[in-house]
Amino acid sequence: MAALLEIRALSRTFGGLFAVSDVDLDVNPGEIHCLIGPNGAGKSTLFKLVMGTYTPTHGSIRFDGEDITQMPPFRRVNLGMSIKMQAPSVFRALPVWQNVHIALQRRVPRRLLAAEEGRLLDLLGLAAEAARPAGELSHGQQQWLEIGMALALQPKLLLLDEPTAGLSPEETFRTGELVKRLAQAGMTVMVVEHDMDFVRQIATRVTVLHLGKIFAEGSVEAIVADPAVAEIYLGTPHANADS
Ligand code: ADP
Ligand code: MG
Repeated sequence: MAALLEIRALSRTFGGLFAVSDVDLDVNPGEIHCLIGPNGAGKSTLFKLVMGTYTPTHGSIRFDGEDITQMPPFRRVNLGMSIKMQAPSVFRALPVWQNVHIALQRRVPRRLLAAEEGRLLDLLGLAAEAARPAGELSHGQQQWLEIGMALALQPKLLLLDEPTAGLSPEETFRTGELVKRLAQAGMTVMVVEHDMDFVRQIATRVTVLHLGKIFAEGSVEAIVADPAVAEIYLGTPHANADS
């Protein structure tokens, strides 16, 4: 099986310091691939390199068989990538349905818009909130709306940067069920996450990043049982301290 995303020898420096250093990583079709690691490990930078927000200092990225290393972000989106960034950015003054509508317009013909809108709001568990301004939603609901806006682009690869930051355990669990449903429907998902219960709930594979480098990779069970992985977290601020 060919990987959907192939990252090779990828590096990115800021002012001479390596934020991402010589990373090789494959993301296979249909998997939920979790990226974990202490604060400053380079997780968000790696995501931004994949999306094209940053260009690499060195190395290459292939997506769906195409070299995208130098491709601008909008072309990557057209190829089937979509990202939910760490900070939510819904249109707070607009009703929930209109947020979804705006996101769907890019891909969905007008005659199918209403049906797609309904399907997406159901999937997100937001059908009852459709008429409310998005800014009135709970933090969790805003995160789901934002995931929905990324989904509206009908991506092959969905990138989620800390989708459970600031969520209650109940909201976190529901987010996990949503992600699993997407994968069951054939989507490939890459997730940056701190919450190990959440990682346990969803991950088919885990990659640990430390000081910009791949530190370990394997099943959740193997990663959780690895004493070297536990060690790199010691003395490091945990959940939600990331920026
Ligand atoms: P993580 O998401 O794993 O917490 P980041 O990718 O945000 O880590 O950061 C990795 C390292 O790169 C950190 O040392 C951070 O300070 C640095 N860094 C990230 N983005 C920039 C930037 N735009 N300019 C300078 N340094 C940056
Ligand atoms: Mg980050």
